[in-house]
Amino acid sequence: MHIVDSVSSETLESPIQLSLVIPVYNEAEILPQLFLRLEKVTQSLDFKTEVILVDDGSSDSTWLDIQHYSPKGFDLHGITLSRNFGKEAALTSGLKAVAGEAVIILDADCQDPPELIPVMLEAWQEGADLVNMKRRVRRGESWLKRKSASIFYRILGVLSETPIPENVGDFRLLNRPVIDEINQLGERNRYMKGILSWPGFNQVTLEYDREARMGGTTKWNYWKLFYLALSGITAFSNKPLMLASWMGAMVAFSSFIYGAWVLIKTLIFGEVVSGYPSMMVVILFIGGIQLITIGILGEYVGRIFTEVKGRPNYVIRKSLKKQGSSSQLKSIKGA
Ligand code: UDP
Ligand code: MG
Repeated sequence: MHIVDSVSSETLESPIQLSLVIPVYNEAEILPQLFLRLEKVTQSLDFKTEVILVDDGSSDSTWLDIQHYSPKGFDLHGITLSRNFGKEAALTSGLKAVAGEAVIILDADCQDPPELIPVMLEAWQEGADLVNMKRRVRRGESWLKRKSASIFYRILGVLSETPIPENVGDFRLLNRPVIDEINQLGERNRYMKGILSWPGFNQVTLEYDREARMGGTTKWNYWKLFYLALSGITAFSNKPLMLASWMGAMVAFSSFIYGAWVLIKTLIFGEVVSGYPSMMVVILFIGGIQLITIGILGEYVGRIFTEVKGRPNYVIRKSLKKQGSSSQLKSIKGA
């Protein structure tokens, strides 16, 4: 194990070609398996690789284990945040630290198999700036989670002004120009699946089977996922705001028709208008619509408030760099 100050001059001169960014939150249980799989894959690569592990304020021994780990086949860049800021913030801090010519984002639980890295690199070498990994199968996930995810992706697809590919998570390869663009986006509301797609560039989509978690449990519950979905929609679409106008127009139109009908009934058929039930329905209906639209407005106003405050997305408590024991030094892309 070497600390970065004491690495050999040869390694310091050789630039990092590939960076892997992995957010980790309370993953001590599966870190050893993750390290093993990373070692195996990176040792087979023709690229000098760094692995950026962002500890998102774990309360278990995750950061301690990262500190004690001696990497083989890749250089390690560990970052620990001052508390749990959430996966999107952890990814943001990881992407800022990227030294490589390309970056691949992975989950610590290996649901995005590191063994697919060579295939992604191939697509990159053939000229892709962004390699999207699309989930063909999602193993180990409940029917409800798969269904709600697919409905959400469809809604977002309709609403978003930025094309955001369906069923593509954060498992992607980004070329240097894409990383530079993303690192310049200063927004606080960070829906990474949208942000990663925003710059555009030359995109390739490959399909893969998403594995089940290696161990431990998911860090997301349905409430967190719902909040993430809301932040995705509000960050990438203004269309929900138009809903108020549409619903207003719809109610105004139907009330006009209904009013005419009541008038005809009274004048021609001489029927007395039955008051209470229809009045209640109308009041509750309009009241409901008003509350929904105020709620939608509130979502946007709340996010404007967060943006205006301008607080940082994350705070780094500590970082470390270790050089891998047998990292390879091969040709850089296009060189
Ligand atoms: N994660 C994180 N911060 C959080 C929650 C999750 O950094 O607040 C990391 C977690 O350690 C994992 C990745 O994000 O590497 C994906 O999390 P998880 O596997 O729990 O999500 P799922 O795959 O179930 O959607
Ligand atoms: Mg997972």
